[in-house]
Amino acid sequence: MSRQPISRRLKILRALRNTGHRFNHWRVVGMALTLGLLFGVPLSGLARVDLWGGRHALLFRGASFRHGLAGVLVGIGLFYVVTFLVNVAGGRLFCGWGCPVGQLSRFGEAVETPGLDRRGKLLASARGAAFSGALVLSVMAWWVDLRVLWMGGSKALILAWAVLFLSVVAAYSHGRWWRWGFCMSTCPIGLYYSFVSPARWYGVHFRNQNAACIECNACDNVCPVDLAPRDLMAPTGSRPGISIAEAPGRNHCLECGDCVRACEFMISKKGGDEVPLLIGFFSGPQRIEEEAAGTESQHPNSTFATGG
Ligand code: SF4
Ligand code: SF4
Repeated sequence: MSRQPISRRLKILRALRNTGHRFNHWRVVGMALTLGLLFGVPLSGLARVDLWGGRHALLFRGASFRHGLAGVLVGIGLFYVVTFLVNVAGGRLFCGWGCPVGQLSRFGEAVETPGLDRRGKLLASARGAAFSGALVLSVMAWWVDLRVLWMGGSKALILAWAVLFLSVVAAYSHGRWWRWGFCMSTCPIGLYYSFVSPARWYGVHFRNQNAACIECNACDNVCPVDLAPRDLMAPTGSRPGISIAEAPGRNHCLECGDCVRACEFMISKKGGDEVPLLIGFFSGPQRIEEEAAGTESQHPNSTFATGG
């Protein structure tokens, strides 16, 4: 599958950025929850290892290294269990709304918004760098008391700041240049989500019984992971890296809502009032077309195009 030119996505995002949207608020809530959880567990003392001062913690009390480490590992395990359950019930919701790595990609894209002047680029870069810093600090807090950054001895100070600086550079660079390529080809969590992903009701649905679709292709062009939102039961063809090829597009869908937002924008621009692309809980097939209302379209090469 050839990648959509990134410039098309960026142009659509530029148009969308000028309009307020409920998805912006949802994403802020998702990111706040993720960062709140990442900071909350170690800073509250629920579980933490402190490789600097030995102030390990478990269940809000001081603990031995072994117990602190056990708490951290259980915390990571619980995170996987929770996201797995979300995945079973609602597909890759976490990818679209809660994953800070995906958010880094959004900050990276913002820097390249077409038509941005120098000041705008600087501001967008600063926002990306600040988010990268917050993410790196939240991860560091699980392994070291963050006070090492201002109270540590000279060696500890140098080491802590070097780790912080290099990690922020890596996180920022990831969002700026690798972006969604990581989600598509390398993310191990995304890979297993693609296998699990049995969400049958929640997700992107195409409802075109009334021929509301204006065939503008904005949904295809804006999808960050090169899917065809109008036909997510069709097989995806070859995918890069370790992602699974030939699975339905729905298994790879991040449920980020970008295609739905683009569709709402295009329909309203044309003065329409019915949006054919929707995200949420829907019964029935993923795609319902005008001429075949009530039946799912069958992709000619699909071996997966069954069920809704
Ligand atoms: S199909 Fe839509 S919701 Fe799914 S990843 Fe692409 S843009 Fe996001
Ligand atoms: S963005 Fe909406 S109107 Fe445009 S092609 Fe996609 S589904 Fe149709």
